[in-house]
Amino acid sequence: MKKDQLFTRRRALLTGALAAGAAGTAGVFALGTGGTSKAPAPPAAGAPAHRVPQKPSAYRLQPLTGYGPPHAAPARPPVRREPLLRISGRGNTMVLTFDDGPDPRYTPAVLDTLREYDVRAMFFVCGEMASYNKDLLARMADEGHVVGNHTWSHPLLTTMSRAQIRSEMERTSDVVEAAYGERPQWFRAPYGAWNRTTFQLGSELGMEPLAWTVDTEDWTTPGTAVIVDRVEKGAAPGVVVLSHDAGGDRSQSVRALRSYLPQLLDSGYHITVPRRQYI
Ligand SMILES: [Zn+2]
Repeated sequence: MKKDQLFTRRRALLTGALAAGAAGTAGVFALGTGGTSKAPAPPAAGAPAHRVPQKPSAYRLQPLTGYGPPHAAPARPPVRREPLLRISGRGNTMVLTFDDGPDPRYTPAVLDTLREYDVRAMFFVCGEMASYNKDLLARMADEGHVVGNHTWSHPLLTTMSRAQIRSEMERTSDVVEAAYGERPQWFRAPYGAWNRTTFQLGSELGMEPLAWTVDTEDWTTPGTAVIVDRVEKGAAPGVVVLSHDAGGDRSQSVRALRSYLPQLLDSGYHITVPRRQYI
């Protein structure tokens, strides 16, 4: 419905990016409002590694960061061509991930079970859900869990413009930072629908794409026993398990965790969260 509007916006962004590139080449800073031609100070060599562009406007005001490595290069992961599907590590290590939340009906019970067994997990949250449930993100931080970016409103990213995808991802990182205390270092595309733009933007926003190895398909509510069975049959070193703590009735997912988590631990699995090799 707003196609023209979006096109115009997109074109404006592209024009801005091109102007930025040209300005960078010429060594003249010609962007911004009010016709200012003042050159910004170059980024300090020792700029903090966590310094990533915060907003599209801020991003465009750094002409030399649009293409090529930015001053925050150490924090920027490589642009992947496909998501990570498993984690590497020694021993029988597995990762549990919970998507689409947080949801006050189910997430607290998931957190309770994880706490009972002193286990850390990953939560790929949607920004919109997170904005309503900041207390749950604070609890995740307190209890050592990792919060990843699962976009703001869970759209199919592959149908969206670059600017729309950036907005979905960036707003989510902003709300995660506000509620959890850190910007996410991992992201996961809704429906596992990745494309080159999502990988590029993920890298620009300092995040690695993480998919999964074992899909419990718990969102189909196949029954608690079926979910438990899928996790136990799929269990192996390096496996990343996908389940959900929001998006519908997730009581089966909550009950399944209470069953498979102690069983995995009894089988000698170490349930943990992945660590990035570079920060
Ligand atoms: Zn999802």
